[in-house]
Amino acid sequence: PPSQNSPLLQGLNDEQRAAVTLPQGHALVLAGAGSGKTRVLTTRIAWLLQTGQVSPGGIMAVTFTNKAAKEMNTRLSAMLPYNVRGMWIGTFHGLCNRLLRAHHQAAGLPATFQILDTQDQLSAVKRLCKQYNVDDERFPPKQLTWFIAGCKEEGMRPKDVVAADPDTKKKVELYQLYEEQCQREGVVDFGELMLRSFELLRDDAALRAHYQRRFRFILVDEFQDTNKLQYAWLKQLAGEMVNGQLQGSSSVLAVGDDDQSIYAFRGARVGNMSDFVREFGVQHQIKLEQNYRSYGNILDSANALIEHNSQRLGKNLRTDQGAGEPVRVMESPTDLDEASWIVGEIKDLVRNDGYSRQEIAILYRSNAQSRVIESKLFNAGIPYRVYGGMRFFERAEVKHALAYLRLIENPHDETSFLRVVNFPARGIGARSIETLQETARAAGCSLSDAVTAVGGAAGTKLQGFVAKIDVLREDTEGKTLRQTIERMLEVSGLIDFYSTEKEGADRIENLKELINAAESFVTQEGFGKDAVALPVDETGKALTQSPASQGIDSSLPMLDLPLGGVGATAGTDAETGETLSPLQAFLVHAALEAGDNQAQAGQDAVQLMTVHASKGLEFDVVFIGGLEEGLFPHENAMSDKGGLEEERRLMYVAITRARKRLYLSHSQSRMLHGRTTFNLPSRFLDELPEGALKWLSAKGGFGSFAPKIAAAGAYGAGARGQFGSYTPKGPEIFANPVVPVQKAVPGHGIVKGKSVFHTKFGEGKVLAVEGTGDDARAQISFPRHGTKWLALAIAKLTVVD
Ligand code: ATP
Ligand code: MG
Repeated sequence: PPSQNSPLLQGLNDEQRAAVTLPQGHALVLAGAGSGKTRVLTTRIAWLLQTGQVSPGGIMAVTFTNKAAKEMNTRLSAMLPYNVRGMWIGTFHGLCNRLLRAHHQAAGLPATFQILDTQDQLSAVKRLCKQYNVDDERFPPKQLTWFIAGCKEEGMRPKDVVAADPDTKKKVELYQLYEEQCQREGVVDFGELMLRSFELLRDDAALRAHYQRRFRFILVDEFQDTNKLQYAWLKQLAGEMVNGQLQGSSSVLAVGDDDQSIYAFRGARVGNMSDFVREFGVQHQIKLEQNYRSYGNILDSANALIEHNSQRLGKNLRTDQGAGEPVRVMESPTDLDEASWIVGEIKDLVRNDGYSRQEIAILYRSNAQSRVIESKLFNAGIPYRVYGGMRFFERAEVKHALAYLRLIENPHDETSFLRVVNFPARGIGARSIETLQETARAAGCSLSDAVTAVGGAAGTKLQGFVAKIDVLREDTEGKTLRQTIERMLEVSGLIDFYSTEKEGADRIENLKELINAAESFVTQEGFGKDAVALPVDETGKALTQSPASQGIDSSLPMLDLPLGGVGATAGTDAETGETLSPLQAFLVHAALEAGDNQAQAGQDAVQLMTVHASKGLEFDVVFIGGLEEGLFPHENAMSDKGGLEEERRLMYVAITRARKRLYLSHSQSRMLHGRTTFNLPSRFLDELPEGALKWLSAKGGFGSFAPKIAAAGAYGAGARGQFGSYTPKGPEIFANPVVPVQKAVPGHGIVKGKSVFHTKFGEGKVLAVEGTGDDARAQISFPRHGTKWLALAIAKLTVVD
């Protein structure tokens, strides 16, 4: 038939062509990464349209991200001469929104219904609990929102929940009240978007019939990550269930890869694949085994890695592209070195190897890892773009924290005042704030000055807030930036607030990362000397040198000081000599970075994202950072097999994003969540075929770093001012349940007063020894290098006398 000769089919392999030109009926393409699943899906849409089998309005395609939807639209517009806007291409949430907007009346929603994000949803629940005097110890609002979201994901309304005990009964009651409140206010949360449109289709037979007729072809990408409700939603659109079999005239093409299922923690069900085959009576199952994305060494690595998983449907992947370059593996002493090294490589890749920046991606397991890399890129003047997350200083929780810090500096900062006057919630309502604003306007003063003029309960609460900020200001006077931030996090109630929230762990991580940011800022800007109060011993004598000077060896590559960094952020008055406090300077820095750092969309910028966000994408060059036990695989997932296998699938996703060149990197120490940890290299590195790898540093040892490591001794910690600003409580530093890279020599014989020899610093005198075992460290005075704190587990010291 002529339709088989379409130019669209040229360049496809036989299996791909078969999938693109399938006759009507349901089909599953199960295939590994880079085998052309998404290309098949897109090409099939184009082919169906071009051969006149369907009009754009007859197509629905579900993608995993908005970005993927946009990309698909772009590709289709390029392939086809006409407007593709009539097609329904989008994410599940996007399509549900579209459906509900189109039929808001039938769905019982106002035309202008608003969507609540997770944060808004929690405030709504809190407001409700307050109104009904719910005991929030017994029923934390946080847990209520999970309960509600969980019910919705299972397709359950309050009346469907079986409440066996009084507590569940109460929760169901609140779920009911929450629904009524949302309905009254005309708002829907994310779960509601999905459930409401599912119910709309389920309950409105005419509407359902309309869409079943309309969408002749339904195509779903990344099918392995659909959840129960999404699958049920698809069934509504595809036809009617009769005796467990779907009957209808539409054709569903699902494409997926069980090895890339990475959202089980959010309810994704790989089981939907087998259900789909059974319930839809799938007629065509196609496997694609040729990978077109990656060179051999990259593919071999991915294949070898995923072999270690036991729960697999089993697939093969091969490439015709030859082995290509080896996969490069790098070990760095610290996360800062790792970031500097990545930035150095990127400079080379762009300057010498002709790669464009947007073809380079840096992937990480956890959002908190991005800050250090962002900061190095920024300092190097390399445009970058962070996907699937905001830039660090733009994240809501970080902005809240910065607002409190600003109020410490300036109580009259209105934006900050309004941002946090009732955050975390302290019962100050919109009405009270309006009154306050009117009072301030009438008196011509700032909001914080006007609080005393507001009467009643509202006035008391407002005065309480201002008093809190005043206390914070007094408390933090003369304190280090780190201490100031820690105190602020405590007094503001931000940490307490997020520790009760479902997504809170991530936010707390980010708040602690703010401490790291401040710490590095202080170190890099050279604030340490004058501005940082040092830990003192009983006699009041400073225990350590200032972080800025302590432990830093200028021969190490670990701190590239930002050129002009001091000038850029810290301002010194030329007349009086007065200079910004560390806090003021840090706030300037945060504002500048947040404002100027983000590369504009479309600009040729390096791409930063989590591995989760990278699904479906591809880049010429990929860096995977932080390949360490506890980080990747993540410590939360390491205890059970299912969790570990999901981490391995994540790693498989990460590796298979690379076309030409892949870098894997880990560092011996890393500052995360406000403390330095010493982590072992990820087990995933051991699962890769040796022949495909090239170690840029010596494998598993200090290799090319040996002299530098030995030189630094306290490399990670010391260089970053850890010991300088930590209260010297050893175990904290190693509190992470991960084994340090090297074991301490028990009975090291290094005691106060002894002379010791260090391979780099030469002979020195021991001034103090603290801690035991792996935590032991010594303060040593070297005639030519000054006084240093060295970790005995790492520094190579020999006793001289
Ligand atoms: P993932 O599982 O990561 O989502 P995928 O299976 O969806 O991957 P695609 O993104 O569709 O794979 O394709 C991977 C790359 O291979 C793309 O750059 C695509 O253009 C290219 N490609 C696919 N099929 C062919 C082919 N027959 N000839 C040449 N290139 C191809
Ligand atoms: Mg794909």
